[in-house]
Amino acid sequence: MPNSQDEKSLSAAEIKPVGALVFYSEFDDPHEWRDLLKSELPSLDFRVYPDIGDPEDVRYVLAWKPFPGFFAPFPNLALVTNLGAGIDSLAGRSDLPDVPIARLSDDGMIALMKSYVLFSVIRYARDIPSFEEAKRVAEWRYIHPRPLHRIKVGIMGLGHLGSAVASALANLGFDVLGWDHEQKSIPGVRCLFGDARGEFLSQVEILVNMLPLTPQTRGLIDGHVFQALPKGAKFINASRGPVVDEPALIEALRSGQIGGATLDVFWTEPLPADHPFWQMDNVLITPHLASITVPETAARDVAENIRRVHEGKEPLHLVNPRRGY
Ligand code: NDP
Repeated sequence: MPNSQDEKSLSAAEIKPVGALVFYSEFDDPHEWRDLLKSELPSLDFRVYPDIGDPEDVRYVLAWKPFPGFFAPFPNLALVTNLGAGIDSLAGRSDLPDVPIARLSDDGMIALMKSYVLFSVIRYARDIPSFEEAKRVAEWRYIHPRPLHRIKVGIMGLGHLGSAVASALANLGFDVLGWDHEQKSIPGVRCLFGDARGEFLSQVEILVNMLPLTPQTRGLIDGHVFQALPKGAKFINASRGPVVDEPALIEALRSGQIGGATLDVFWTEPLPADHPFWQMDNVLITPHLASITVPETAARDVAENIRRVHEGKEPLHLVNPRRGY
């Protein structure tokens, strides 16, 4: 997130970036990005893959899931920007250029993630799945509402998105706990870390996964984690599927140890038609859309990073593909 100094720099006079930017995504609209970036940096030479022109001109890449070998033609790169938050498509690759790699973390993306997690948590907190079921059998089913401050929500992973989600839930009145591998501090949120994971899990009745997918987090949310939660706890996964041991989750949902799950991400996407999750009444499935990059807000950060590189400053939101986030 830009601080006030960044914002000062954002309003700085137009620079004329040296070199071209190549855009690559099978998912995002290059015309929209061209218009938005041109409004920030009118003289930017914006090229859309595969029309890359002379590869020696190219200093910037803005890409989502670039294929293996994508960077090879560009000898003069200065910055790679991942067109999203999760960098798992870049993690562990041996073909990355030795230049700074940044991710996007824009206000629009954060707002969308907050809306997804707030909806999912509130749905459980206000017993909506039970009312949906009651409606199907024409039953007037009164469930006395619980005050929000008595409902403990736990967020695993307190980065850009996880911390924003935790704050939003706390502001709404939930009793929010956070867990991360390092100590974090978020007003209104009880932040635990490292070995305190068991203490964290034993309290939360709605668990939200916001961890990035890395070698350390792959399969981290397993049967032990589900067993450590109070019986009937709800689970929301809005980060990456492979952070969760899916067979363990299925077992926990069947046994009632987990009372319901809201899942946006999966081991295999699209989720295969014969996957057990489709048949489980206590599972809500959304097709990996908890949040997206919002070009209107993200383009400002992309332009700011081009300015920064041009001025020899460190770019915003740097990531470490070896680490995985
Ligand atoms: P960040 O990289 O900002 O935050 C990750 C957090 O997890 C950091 O606090 C980091 O701690 C912590 N962490 C890293 N490794 C571990 C570990 N082994 N154990 C415990 N904590 C760990 O990510 P964001 O918050 O921006 O996003 C989280 C994920 O959400 C993304 O990686 C992406 O995969 C996913 N996502 C999903 C979307 C969807 O539509 N479903 C949309 C956008 C993102 P520290 O920094 O101290 O090392």
